[in-house]
Amino acid sequence: MITNVGIVGAGQMGCGIAHVCALAGYKVTLYDLSAERIEAGLATINGNLARQVSNGKLSDEDRRATLSRIRGTGDVHDFASADLVIEAATEDESVKRKIFAQVCPVLKPEALLATNTSSLSITRLASATDRPERFMGIHFMNPVPVMKLVELVRGIATGEATFTKAKEFVASLDKTVTVAEDFPAFIVNRILLPMINEAIYTLYEGVGSVEAIDTAMKLGANHPMGPLQLADFIGLDTCLSIMQVLYDGLADSKYRPCPLLVKYVEAGWLGRKSGRGFYDYRGEVPVPTR
Ligand code: NAD
Repeated sequence: MITNVGIVGAGQMGCGIAHVCALAGYKVTLYDLSAERIEAGLATINGNLARQVSNGKLSDEDRRATLSRIRGTGDVHDFASADLVIEAATEDESVKRKIFAQVCPVLKPEALLATNTSSLSITRLASATDRPERFMGIHFMNPVPVMKLVELVRGIATGEATFTKAKEFVASLDKTVTVAEDFPAFIVNRILLPMINEAIYTLYEGVGSVEAIDTAMKLGANHPMGPLQLADFIGLDTCLSIMQVLYDGLADSKYRPCPLLVKYVEAGWLGRKSGRGFYDYRGEVPVPTR
């Protein structure tokens, strides 16, 4: 039975996953590299829970109880009692491999290990662990407290018992499962990211401004957010990593990352999380940067 959940990475996704797990009653251990990241993550979770209280979706007592179930840590040894650890660190295979090398020796033999990767091969990541049969992809969507879907992805070695437990776990969070095969970027991002990349090409080629492209897709295709707004929301470094995985993994030039996306990432303009991307978020309202 899963009661203790460990999470690696207190970024956008790790915090969201911690939020929904603690709200569902799980004890959560949230790990990141520095005390500042952990503090910032806990503050974000508190802010998001407080918003749910002011929207009338949660009582203040539940907010406090939820927060009390989350423990931040800078020490992987605190995963010793975890029944499930979900890795939600930076979308970089070498980072994830290093994390598995650190975390695996600490885990109980029967503990499950999952990754929230948006695009990387589950089979390959599993091979960097000591438990490929108890490893799989549990891919949450951003923002986790709001989005209903979780993609489940099995690697070649993932055991049936692992898959069943993951399905039960996701259901306990009141999310809906969709199952994807282990191909680059799975289902959602295989379809979504080429659209975002095409929107960036549309900007790069001067077909439209940031505002024109986002307005066109919001009002013309009935998307709740424009593709450039969405790219900023996902994080431009994550968008670029996913396009690179699609390009390398499927060996088709249609997945070539737009040079403008590369430039934004090189500039450190990573979207909302760094204060600037296709929009500048440092003022009261977001202002297009092109
Ligand atoms: P993020 O940049 O907001 O957070 C990443 C966190 O990982 C940072 O806090 C960083 O300090 C931490 N980290 C890096 N190396 C670490 C290490 N060695 N040990 C511990 N922590 C480490 O990124 P994010 O948007 O939260 O994405 C995290 C993962 O979730 C990625 O695999 C990404 O592909 C996936 N994902 C992202 C989205 C999205 O929309 N952003 C959606 C679904 C899945």
